[in-house]
Amino acid sequence: MPSYVDPSKCDGCKGGDKTACMYICPNDLMVLNAEEMKAYNQEPDACWECYSCVKICPQGAIFVRGYNDFVPMGGQVHPMRSSDSIMWTVKFRNGNMKRFKFPIRTTAEGAANAYPNGKGENLDDERLLLEATLAQPTMLA
Ligand code: SF4
Ligand code: SF4
Repeated sequence: MPSYVDPSKCDGCKGGDKTACMYICPNDLMVLNAEEMKAYNQEPDACWECYSCVKICPQGAIFVRGYNDFVPMGGQVHPMRSSDSIMWTVKFRNGNMKRFKFPIRTTAEGAANAYPNGKGENLDDERLLLEATLAQPTMLA
């Protein structure tokens, strides 16, 4: 189910050229109504539910309605990002709540090294496709 913005919480990122949700959406779905200073998802059908906009919104104004096989009807899943971790809050429809905290990646943007052991490894080798599977004895039984 797509993301949606709670207009009572959104402040339009205080009128910047590009709002945080517009910047982060990989599908360019978020737009700002400059008159109302409220953002919205302009094409919900194209939303990937990737949660990027939810995580980056400084006002906690964006939510995603979870699919029923993931979140029971009436439940909610919401991430709260800090500088070193993300706290996921799961609210069940009976009022119960659970929280899970995970560290986030701290590698600077663009600094990830795809070849940590040197360029000798050929990541494009088609034999790598099955390597992990063949290495597990239980899969061969
Ligand atoms: S990031 Fe949040 S506060 Fe900023 S425009 Fe988007 S919904 Fe509004
Ligand atoms: S959940 Fe992902 S795809 Fe959907 S609007 Fe937010 S950033 Fe874009």
